[in-house]
Amino acid sequence: MRGLQIVHWGEPYVLNTSIPVPSPAKGQLLIKIASAGYCHTETLVLNGDFARLALRDPLPQIPSHEPTGWVAAVGEGVDGEKWKVGMRVGCLNYRDMCGSCKECKAGDLKFCTHANLAGVTADGAFAEYMLASPQSTIPLPASISFDNAAPLFCAGATVYCGLLRCALSPGQAVAILGCGALGHLGVQFAKVMGLRVVAIDSRQAPLDLCATLSHPLDKCINSSLTPVNDALAKLPFEVDAAVVATDAIPAYRYALELTRKHGTVVVLGQPKEDIPVPYFQLIMRDLTIKGSVLSSPEDCQDMINMFAEHNLEVRTHVYKMEEISKLIEDTHKPEMSGKMVVRIAEEF
Ligand SMILES: [Zn+2]
Ligand SMILES: [Zn+2]
Repeated sequence: MRGLQIVHWGEPYVLNTSIPVPSPAKGQLLIKIASAGYCHTETLVLNGDFARLALRDPLPQIPSHEPTGWVAAVGEGVDGEKWKVGMRVGCLNYRDMCGSCKECKAGDLKFCTHANLAGVTADGAFAEYMLASPQSTIPLPASISFDNAAPLFCAGATVYCGLLRCALSPGQAVAILGCGALGHLGVQFAKVMGLRVVAIDSRQAPLDLCATLSHPLDKCINSSLTPVNDALAKLPFEVDAAVVATDAIPAYRYALELTRKHGTVVVLGQPKEDIPVPYFQLIMRDLTIKGSVLSSPEDCQDMINMFAEHNLEVRTHVYKMEEISKLIEDTHKPEMSGKMVVRIAEEF
């Protein structure tokens, strides 16, 4: 099969046309990939930052952990009534959960100590076929195209779960800092959840994109033009929680100062530098800081249902595997907004 591979850490992907098609072992699905997303985390994976989590030497490794496609084959022991060949699906990246560790027993599959992480510590979705586990594979309704669905399986799941971790009730207010791939989905989920939504970015392009979404936001703030004290003075309501979906360190300071006393700040970004947390915010303002990544399969299913029912939008830029260097170059352009997707097979 054709696929992109990391052959050496830190070096550009190689397009390999003779990768053997994997065969599903007991309990696995084989997925024929339609479209797969390029996540911000790909840079960290390429640099080998996650190699220490791998259960075996992962190189050469196929990147991408935002897979969508069709069930192509089912392994022994998989319920063939539920997982029919040809079924449209998307997959969360954790697979091959052991079922016996503390996390698995608690039902927290994404933290399984023995799981493989597709596209992160094991082969992922930038290829014609990929292995998956039924437990972390989600059926896709026909109304969501594969190009639009791919970003939902990391960016969508992560920001949806981040919002759930804020534990807010309808009518309360959330600020989403960073309105790129995760943020532009998050602001829509938050509106459907009945929250007041403040979209914040230091770049104008993502804010302009958010302003065109069909679910109008309560406030858009360009943080490079609006110091946090001005934002606090102008907002007609308190911000109960903030979700930081960017690596930009100033966004964390902004979030900590913008969130009300006793509020919650959820960290979704993966900055290289340490995140600065002044003791004052913890002690004198009683803020709670949580991290979050991906979601449970159940929450992912709820998010997919919400996306379909409320006609939510994802802005994608679609490339072919051969155009991967152009995709990566475009990702780093400041005027870019939305999400990069590689289309591997056409929908039929
Ligand atoms: Zn990701
Ligand atoms: Zn486990």
